[in-house]
Amino acid sequence: LAPVIALDGPSASGKGTVAARVAAALEFHYLDSGALYRLTALAAVRRGVLFDDVEGLTEVARALDASFVEGVILLDGEEATEAIRSEAIGEGASRVAALAPVRDALLARQRAFQRLPGLVADGRDMGSVVFPQAQLKVFLTATAEVRAERRHKQLIAKGEDVTIQKILEDIQQRDARDSARTVAPLVQLPDARLLDTSAMTIDQAVRTVLGWWET
Ligand code: C5P
Repeated sequence: LAPVIALDGPSASGKGTVAARVAAALEFHYLDSGALYRLTALAAVRRGVLFDDVEGLTEVARALDASFVEGVILLDGEEATEAIRSEAIGEGASRVAALAPVRDALLARQRAFQRLPGLVADGRDMGSVVFPQAQLKVFLTATAEVRAERRHKQLIAKGEDVTIQKILEDIQQRDARDSARTVAPLVQLPDARLLDTSAMTIDQAVRTVLGWWET
């Protein structure tokens, strides 16, 4: 079986960027598991399935027609790369992700990414549930304040008008929900290496993970 690097951590920690860069450096496959929850939320909205309809959401997850082609994300054959990044869909993703049957419906799809020469998987439960046998597990985080600042910069660059305070509140709420839920909560595993990127550049974070992988 192909080796796996599991990168878990809270939202806006930069783990997506770090994971994609580590995967590129090693020429490994890359799984953005959060995108699957976001796609499920987006598909539900488009089909008129409500976020409290567990059966409906499970069916949406099971039948999800999603594909990842070189950084482009397709839903029902149409590009959804940007559409899944909105705050509303992030919020919906975190709600559907709290449902055990939805998570079960997406499990095999995630494990199918484990192919040679290897996989870098990013999410909340990569090391705990999806790839518990991963050769390297990293818990990548940064303080909520630093994460809010980073996201604020991105949103301002996109021309969105939002305060750091509002973003910080959203991040703290999302953290609380992802950590407190009963299914697959975000936890720092005893066998995971801690990478606090609060005072690091992306380059430094990428080099640290690559260093751990090589030793
Ligand atoms: O990482 P990202 O912000 O794209 O994930 C969106 C939401 O999906 C998270 O807030 C989290 O609730 C959920 N998620 C999850 N398990 C994963 C990846 C994401 O529950 N492996």
